Amino acid sequence: MAYDLLIKNGRIIDGSGRPAFHGDVGVSNGKIVEVGGLGGSARQVIEADGRAVAPGFVDNHCHYDAQVLWDPLCTFSCDHGSTSVIIGNCSLALAPVKAEAREKLAGMLSYVEAIPMDVLKEGVPWTWETFPEYMGAIGRRLGVNVGTLVGHSAVRLYAMGEECSDRDATAAELDAMRGIVRQSLEAGALGLSITRNMNHFDIAGKRIPAACAPESELFALADVLREVGTGVIQCGGGTNPEMKDKLLSRISQACGRPVMYNTLLEQARQPGRWKEHLAHVEETAKQGIRAIPLCNPGSVVNRFTMKNCQVFRGMPTWLPILQGADEDKLRAYSDSAKRAVLRAEVDAPLGPDSTFSKRWDLMFVEEPKLAKNRGLAGKHVAEIAKAKGQHPMDAFLDLAVEEKLETVFSLGEINMDTEAVAQILGSPYAVVGLTDGGAHVQFHSNVSNPTRLLGYWVREKKIMSLEQAVRRLTFDSASAFGIYDRGLLQPGLAADIVVFDPDEVRPGREDVVHDFPANGWRMRELAEGIHYTVVNGEILLEKGAHTGRHPGQVLRNAQYLARA
Ligand SMILES: [Zn+2]
Repeated sequence: MAYDLLIKNGRIIDGSGRPAFHGDVGVSNGKIVEVGGLGGSARQVIEADGRAVAPGFVDNHCHYDAQVLWDPLCTFSCDHGSTSVIIGNCSLALAPVKAEAREKLAGMLSYVEAIPMDVLKEGVPWTWETFPEYMGAIGRRLGVNVGTLVGHSAVRLYAMGEECSDRDATAAELDAMRGIVRQSLEAGALGLSITRNMNHFDIAGKRIPAACAPESELFALADVLREVGTGVIQCGGGTNPEMKDKLLSRISQACGRPVMYNTLLEQARQPGRWKEHLAHVEETAKQGIRAIPLCNPGSVVNRFTMKNCQVFRGMPTWLPILQGADEDKLRAYSDSAKRAVLRAEVDAPLGPDSTFSKRWDLMFVEEPKLAKNRGLAGKHVAEIAKAKGQHPMDAFLDLAVEEKLETVFSLGEINMDTEAVAQILGSPYAVVGLTDGGAHVQFHSNVSNPTRLLGYWVREKKIMSLEQAVRRLTFDSASAFGIYDRGLLQPGLAADIVVFDPDEVRPGREDVVHDFPANGWRMRELAEGIHYTVVNGEILLEKGAHTGRHPGQVLRNAQYLARA
């Protein structure tokens, strides 16, 4: 047989978790034809040379809603072997939108996901109003496959206008929202995204609309998925309401659709909570309910200055200062009476919505600005404070004020306990993912989750087999999000394939690039050991370089595909 593409001499890891075997993969018309020892000719041959050949990874939680419009490859997910990304998470999306509400909607994405507003102003062409029109706009040119979720905040803004964060919806407005969700699902959206994260605000400092909706509205929107008979619900900030009164379990039971929520993780703010959470989801799964947490192989280490800091945003006196102008911040942080109040809030007992663990030993000085402070680089705030005989917060703010808010700090409070992370990533009750690709672009990102899982957790820590890890990144993720034609190397399925070296695969070093609209900069994290990324049977990346092709497609839900 003559193939379009033949990948020869690979270590085939098919995504099912079954043992790897030696063989070839034949591809024609964008689909996998056969797997095994294959003869025949091909228009194009990839010599895998014994490296791993696996299904392309599914990056199931991203915020490329804006970026995909100027960067159809969705860098840097594709560099880490991802061939499909899912956008529209956490209730945030860029459609539907009325012309007069564009800036307000973009402001939510900008403020919550830390994408600079001037980048969005220049980079987003706003050629759509409805959700299907947006899907059409991104579908014109794609490097990777993109699945979309319709975002509740966008839907609520569209239906309620300026008052979307202020009050309950009227019956007519709720009807309008249900209509938008239906229209989006009928156009092929993979589902709906909602949020219960009460720490997400727009640029004006108002809580984002989806977080203001009453529970009854969530059930009413979820019911549209039941009616249409397809889709998933993604929920940002879902852990607390699920643990409190099983909100997401109840939604899933009511609509018969899976609810994927953020996040099962180990975090210093809530020691031991991950164990309780894991026991909870095991119990839920045993009852046959699909309320499934996402988990994440990355340790989240955020770099920040006191100009863009979000660490203290859960505290009432801090929040308006953090949202204010730099001069006002300097004045507040220098004021001793104000300091006392800020200190008291930091020292208050941790609660479920705490945004800081009080673990000053996890907060490091990365880059002091003044020459006299150079010796502080690499020290954590707790030790600096101890040497000075100060409260850590005072040592921290003294330094920030002295350096006019330009000191760069880092804080890693999440997934630092390796034993806990190994148990979480190995759990069949959670889905691995959550890179947040496209978000927090000027901070450390988690876009390297796949290569971190394969390099650090599998090769170095040996917490699971390579076959199991590939399954976590492919079949488990694709099937959880209703992408049934991808995620396995199996005849008939789409030819999304990654060729990587299991001995070399790892995240690369981070640097800064100025490649965003309006001369915007972002952190870049590439990968090592990823040799080829193939999307729909065409090579997208070869040794990290773009081939110039755009083989990606907009992913559609199962009902849409059955009709098409
Ligand atoms: Zn998110």
